[in-house]
Parts: sequence; C-alpha cells; structure tokens
Amino acid sequence: MTHLGKKPARLDLRRRESGDVELRTRLTPNLRLDTPIMIGHMSYGAISLNAQVAMARAAKEAGTFMGTGEGGLHSALYPYQDRMIVQVASGRFGVNIDYLERGAAIEIKIGQGAKPGIGGHLPGEKVCEGISCTRMIPEGSDAISPAPHHDIYSIEDLAQLVRGLKEATEWKKPVFVKIAAVHNAAAIAAGVARSPADAVVIDGFRGGTGAAPKVFRDHVGIPVEAAVASVDQKLRDQGIRNDISVIASGGIRGSADVAKAIALGADAVYIGTAALVAMGCRVCGNCYRGLCPWGIATQRPDLVARLNPDEASGHVANLIHAWTLELSELLGAAGINSIESMRGNRDRLRGYMLDEGLLKVLDVRTVGA
Ligand code: SF4
Repeated sequence: MTHLGKKPARLDLRRRESGDVELRTRLTPNLRLDTPIMIGHMSYGAISLNAQVAMARAAKEAGTFMGTGEGGLHSALYPYQDRMIVQVASGRFGVNIDYLERGAAIEIKIGQGAKPGIGGHLPGEKVCEGISCTRMIPEGSDAISPAPHHDIYSIEDLAQLVRGLKEATEWKKPVFVKIAAVHNAAAIAAGVARSPADAVVIDGFRGGTGAAPKVFRDHVGIPVEAAVASVDQKLRDQGIRNDISVIASGGIRGSADVAKAIALGADAVYIGTAALVAMGCRVCGNCYRGLCPWGIATQRPDLVARLNPDEASGHVANLIHAWTLELSELLGAAGINSIESMRGNRDRLRGYMLDEGLLKVLDVRTVGA
C-alpha cells in the first residue's frame, strides 16, 4: 500500500471523556495505491481513445492511477474517473471545473523529461471531432502548448496556481507538479515542496515520446535516478521530505528500475512506454506520423480499430501485477517488508561500473564496499 501526498510530522491525539481517541491533526488528501506503479500521462491525441480506455481499465483493475495527459478527459473515460489524474499543462486544453472535479488528483505539467524547456504541438490533421471536443479547440486546428505557462514565471506564481486549483476543488484533491529532470531539479523540487503541492513528479530524459525533437531527446536532461537521488537528499537536508511525495518517471523499464527509483528516494513511479509495449507497441519511434499499425499512436479509424481495449487492458494489468510481485520479491531479498522502509534506503544499493562523481550524487557505495 502506498499513500501519495503530504504526511504530518506528528499526530495530535486527544482522549475524549468517553474514552475514545480523537485525531486533531488536519490531514491533507492522499492518493491510496495498491502498488507504487502508476501509468503516466499520455493524452488523447498523442494516443488513440482505445489505448487510453485500455490503460484506464488496467489502472482500475490494478488498484492504481493513470494520467490523462494534456488532452482533456473524454466521456468514455468517465467510468474510470476515480482512477484518473487530470493534467493542467501550458495549453490548458480541456481544463474546466467539470474536468478538475472528475479527476482523483490534478497534475500541473511544468516540464517533460524527454524535451525540457520546449512545448508541444499536435498537428491539426490529428484533431478529429472527439479530440476537438475534449481539448475544446476547433476541429482540424493545431494544438500548440507553449514552452512556459504564461502565468508562471516564479515559484510564487506556481504556488498561486496550486492554491487556485485546490480552492476550485474545495481542497479535496491532491495536486502534483511535474518537472523535467535537469541539473537544478533539486532546488526546483524544494520550491515546489514549499507550495501547497502534494507531490512532485521528476521526469527523466529517457522518457519516451513520439513528439520530442531528436536532438532534445538524445542530448538534453539527465537520468531520473540522479535527479531523484538529489531531490530526496535536498528535501531531507531542508527537513521537508514529509511535506511532499516524490514520483519518478521517464525510463522505468522493469521492476528492478522501480526498486532502484524507490531506494533512491521515490515514493512511486509512472510507467509509459512499458504500458504501450504491453499493448503491442514495437517502439519504432514513428508515433509522430500518426500511422501506428498497432492502433496506439494514431487517430485513423481503421488503425484505431486494430486495438481491442478489452485484450489490451488485460495485458497492461498483467504487467503491473507481475512487476508488483517482482518488487515484493526484491524487497524480500533485501530483507525489507514495506515500500515505506525501502524509500530512500540507499544502504541496499551498490553501484557497478559507475564513476566516483555519480556515486557521490546517488549517495551509494560501490560494489564490494
Ligand atoms: S508501435 Fe511505433 S508508432 Fe505505435 S506507439 Fe509504438 S512507437 Fe509509436
């Protein structure tokens, strides 16, 4: 069991005259997960509705959550809304009060690991009737996400948006902030922790996306492991680690990656490409063409129809179940009986073929030590 959100430093308990114990600490909303593995944000537009529905069903079946991406929430996903994390990105596509209220949590996307510092572009030819409806833009028009949010130029501006989203949803929903894994991710995360945000998502440079320019994908950003380790250390050093949960994403390719991310300081992880592979994706890197033969990254009706959401959701749920079981086995082998005890427990990690500088950032010893 994993809980994402702020944790109180201590609990204020009072005994009533009746003998009952009363909890007087005001707890903030947390997300409760059966596994620390969630499905990351992939928008309707970037992928087909069939693919989104399949993953949403899998998230429900596995007791976890899935991100909507920045494309709004299609009515076909309403039955799974209590498992959806709705995203607010710089284009604000599909964002209205109904959208915010339907989600189990809200995520503000500031940056993306595969393309830090740049925005997004969904070409008009992909904007069909359904996408036009959920994104609230005219059919056939380009959907451009600016690089920055035009109302956020400082950590105070970000805190104001977090507060605004919480206010709009009566402080009932956790709010996450997603940033790209870059050299100063630790300082940014410490700023996010001082806002009312409940979790910070650190998105590593190996995150897959069909929309990143090759030069950004291959040369900008840093690995999620290094960023998570430095974020966890900075939050501990400043005594604010319990004020915010840390979610690792971008490059989680197996259960061992989940275990390593948690041991380096993450509370949970997002998977993306792995879920697509479970549905048939061959990682051909041609998502931007909109002609995915597996019916995933396409809106062409004949190609979309190739993906059976019933079968695909079973495959994704199996993947999450299998990785969760493997994670339990890894914990058992390390002599640890809970995810909470594994979090930031670098004593259990050793670096192999890593240079001294990286070992220092990760704060792990080398093999044999
Ligand atoms: S098979 Fe190719 S086009 Fe389809 S989702 Fe995977 S990488 Fe993208």
